[in-house]
Amino acid sequence: MNEASPALMQVRVDLAGRGYDIAIGRGLLAELGNRLQELRPGTSAVIVTDERVAQHHLSAALSALESAGIRSSRVIVPAGEASKSFPQFQEVCDRLLETRIGRSDLVIALGGGVVGDLAGFAAATVRRGLDYVQVPTTLLAQVDSSVGGKTGINARHGKNMIGAFHQPILVLADTALLDTLPPREFRAGYTEVAKYGLIADERFFAWLEANWPEVFSGGPAREQAIAASCRAKAAIVARDELETGDRALLNLGHTFGHALEAAAGFSDRLLHGEAIAIGMVLAFAFSVRLGLAKPADADRMRRHLAAVGLPTQISQIPGEIPGVEGLMDLIEQDKKVNRGQLTFILTRGIGASFVGTNIDPAEVQAFLAEKLAEQ
Ligand code: NAD
Repeated sequence: MNEASPALMQVRVDLAGRGYDIAIGRGLLAELGNRLQELRPGTSAVIVTDERVAQHHLSAALSALESAGIRSSRVIVPAGEASKSFPQFQEVCDRLLETRIGRSDLVIALGGGVVGDLAGFAAATVRRGLDYVQVPTTLLAQVDSSVGGKTGINARHGKNMIGAFHQPILVLADTALLDTLPPREFRAGYTEVAKYGLIADERFFAWLEANWPEVFSGGPAREQAIAASCRAKAAIVARDELETGDRALLNLGHTFGHALEAAAGFSDRLLHGEAIAIGMVLAFAFSVRLGLAKPADADRMRRHLAAVGLPTQISQIPGEIPGVEGLMDLIEQDKKVNRGQLTFILTRGIGASFVGTNIDPAEVQAFLAEKLAEQ
């Protein structure tokens, strides 16, 4: 039962003049209309969602708005990463304008990271910027993509290459919406939860080791894990909104992970979270190789990711993966390359990640050759 209940948890993203709340709780979607009336009395809203999310949750979202007297329209895009494209962006912008959306109206992104990034970017640009609300429906979106204001679409030259920083005015994370998420998608999103422990919070990681079954089954530990993740992300975003420093820590596992994701063609062969799980294992192993971290920590984090059912080795990716040179090309195309040197998120142990600059590509190449030979 998705009975309406008060927000179990509230996390504040503290940004001067643009701060907002993340409300987290089971059944919160029913409160969407009331919360919007409080924030923007008399507003109208346009819900942007995808076909799959619409099947499960659009009618509940529409009723929540209607019962609070909020007029709404909807824009539905196809499900999947391919919607983060110029044609879909144009479609969403045109549809928003067709609804005669005004500067005091709201865009509501109801969906996973794809809808959040696409609708957020449309909100950033239509009529030179509209306010928007994130209603994330995947675990990844509830703990990561809906928080922090990065919006955008993919370009021929790479993922997330076109976009804007545009903060939402509210994030409403109803944890019951995750009950309809396929288990594989939930698991992939869990990578980002574990990531916050691995970056800077050993105690949270130890808590996850003990409590992850309840996070998956939907007990109160789920809300606690999501709130802890949002607090961690909010703190980093508040320190470094535009990613000139610390925010890069959130890219733990992403240099290797993005290369593997690209190698698998950004397809169902390897979901983003799965790629990042392998990428984080590689980042820890690489840190061990550089003499920075202890093998016991690398083992411990790998065991936890494997215990929840995430892949931890390149050999678990179905199908062909390019060899060392192919992977190096992909790594070097990644945006973290600066004048021939690589920037990597490295670690001194669980909860002790840091931004490593000037990493010699030859060192990475030798490491990957070793890893591929081990498979
Ligand atoms: P997604 O939005 O494609 O959702 C995954 C699948 O689950 C889709 O098929 C969707 O229709 C379906 N779905 C969503 N919610 C559901 C629900 N409650 N029940 C049933 N099915 C549901 O993918 P994602 O993993 O949420 O997000 C990935 C995207 O997020 C990528 O494009 C990535 O670049 C982006 N991202 C952005 C940020 C950021 O800071 N903006 C951070 C991380 C990732």
